Amino acid sequence: MAPCIHLLLVWTTLLQSVLALPGVVYAPVASNATCRVMPGDLNWPRKYEWTQLNSSVNGRLIATTPEAFVCHDPSFDAETCDTLKSTWSFANPHLTSPIDILAPYFQNQSCDPYTPRDTPCFIGNYAPFSINVSSVSDIQAGLSFARDKNIRLVLKNTGHDILGKSTGKGALSLWLHNLKNIEFFDSYTRGGRYTGPYVRLGAGVIFEEIFSAADARKLRVLTGSCPTVSAGGGFATGGGHSAFTSVYGLAADNILEWEVVTPEGDHLVVTPDDHADLYWALSGGGPGTFAVVVSLTMRVYQDAPMTGAMLSYDNNTAGSNDKFWDSITTFHSTLSSAVDAGATIYYALTATSMTVFNIAIPTVNASVVSKILDPMRSNLAASGIPLNITSSVHSGFLDMYNTYLRPTVAVTPEAQVAGGRLIPRPIIEDQKASEELTSAFREATEAGFNLICTVLSANKKPPYDNSVLPAWRSALMTCLVQVPWDFEGPWSEMLEKQDVLTRSVMPQIEAATPNAGAYLNEASFLQSDWQQVFYGSNYPRLSAIKAKYDPDSLLYATTAVGSESWISNQDGRLCRG
Ligand SMILES: Cc1cc2nc3c(=O)[nH]c(=O)nc-3n(C[C@H](O)[C@H](O)[C@H](O)COP(=O)(O)OP(=O)(O)OC[C@H]3O[C@@H](n4cnc5c(N)ncnc54)[C@H](O)[C@@H]3O)c2cc1C
Repeated sequence: MAPCIHLLLVWTTLLQSVLALPGVVYAPVASNATCRVMPGDLNWPRKYEWTQLNSSVNGRLIATTPEAFVCHDPSFDAETCDTLKSTWSFANPHLTSPIDILAPYFQNQSCDPYTPRDTPCFIGNYAPFSINVSSVSDIQAGLSFARDKNIRLVLKNTGHDILGKSTGKGALSLWLHNLKNIEFFDSYTRGGRYTGPYVRLGAGVIFEEIFSAADARKLRVLTGSCPTVSAGGGFATGGGHSAFTSVYGLAADNILEWEVVTPEGDHLVVTPDDHADLYWALSGGGPGTFAVVVSLTMRVYQDAPMTGAMLSYDNNTAGSNDKFWDSITTFHSTLSSAVDAGATIYYALTATSMTVFNIAIPTVNASVVSKILDPMRSNLAASGIPLNITSSVHSGFLDMYNTYLRPTVAVTPEAQVAGGRLIPRPIIEDQKASEELTSAFREATEAGFNLICTVLSANKKPPYDNSVLPAWRSALMTCLVQVPWDFEGPWSEMLEKQDVLTRSVMPQIEAATPNAGAYLNEASFLQSDWQQVFYGSNYPRLSAIKAKYDPDSLLYATTAVGSESWISNQDGRLCRG
């Protein structure tokens, strides 16, 4: 893990330093009651009010500084800046900051390691104040302060969100990363419907911390591929796919309890039976809008020996570009039976190469493994592509993860321009429709984008009703259409790529997958008709639950339920739309 580069200074020093940031000039203006108050407004809280808030959270209020301030005068530090630069495309440096985020568009170059040293470091879209949350009362104090002062509030955990949900200009941020408790239990008793083992995870626990804790107990916990995502932030509330989705369903399908603080400050334990509407909304209806999650409780499963596999080939192996693309349709045709046999598969596709970097098979049973791998081998061989499939047996999930997923994830830049789409199984199972999808994938890659797809089945009815987008239940893949963000190139080029993706590439994939929807966590913040695409037929009920638990619309996040009530003005101020 990258070294912690967030400087912990005493409160008063930080308060002074943020107000003294070069270039931060706030003209005093009176804010309109329908808009959030921003720094520089006449009714922005006075210093004594921030000091009172700081006392009420036992000194855990931070007047923030973007972490790349070390790359700019007058604080320039060559060594620290170089370290930051080398990891800036990854989530790690942003994890340990109360405000920094991965999404470059929302960073908006206000303070990054790639702009010239003599460019001032601005607070920009980052929250100027953050509470380093350690307790329910810290959350309650933050919610209450933001409400009383009419300040924008954001929830930040690891900062992974690619849609810009975990930052906000002029906001007070609740930093939830340090809620780190992990407790395993043998048998669940509440509600009487499930009596098996479970885990309770503080909202800030990241997958890396779960991997080792679960492995030590020979248990499987549903975690995603990136070790630094949090379980209790966007992942499980948004759906949450893991290497075991095809066996156990999505993370949201496995939630037993949410411990939350509602926007009105109530500390609740939410289950399928207690506050059932909020349970339903939190389990799939997206992060950062219904309540602040303190912890989640979810089912866990016995770990067991499992199989991992990988394969790759390219247009040279195929003999020509056309044959390569024909082979993609052929490969796709083998996936339905693979997920039915329990596999979850991760692949990366470029214009000339296919890398299936992990076929996660939850068993070592030879006939199951053959059922998954043999059709890939034989169907592609029939298309003239001799495949070399590497496979290995592992003692359990972590061993398999360390062999296949970790090495790929570790070298794949995470800052990106991205869009996303769920790919319905019926499309893949219809030869003509599947060929049209392949054509759209080809167009996307030839326009310079990569497809990173997770192949899975989430079609089992969840044990408790939840608000996971219905399109997940018939999806065979969730695909990210992306290109890494080039921090050294012109900003305008990245905006141009975003534009090409939005106007041309995604519409072609959408046309090949009518009514398919997209995973709300792995998609574009510019997604058109996002209410339908991310939430589908659940949207009206989700909106009603949002209005019930957050009548003042205190929680806002881009493309989150209820966010259409707000618009972001040219200066980044949120105003009711
Ligand atoms: C490299 C990478 C790999 C990924 N791999 C997977 C994967 O394998 N499977 C998968 O399903 N997803 C995956 N994702 C998507 C990931 O689940 C989302 O980006 C998720 O939103 C990250 O949540 P976070 O809390 O870690 O990040 P943050 O950016 O801090 O928060 C994300 C959202 O959650 C809200 N939030 C955070 N904490 C809380 C809280 N305590 N209460 C309420 N709201 C909160 C924030 O306000 C924001 O809206 C991946 C993303 C990246 C960038």
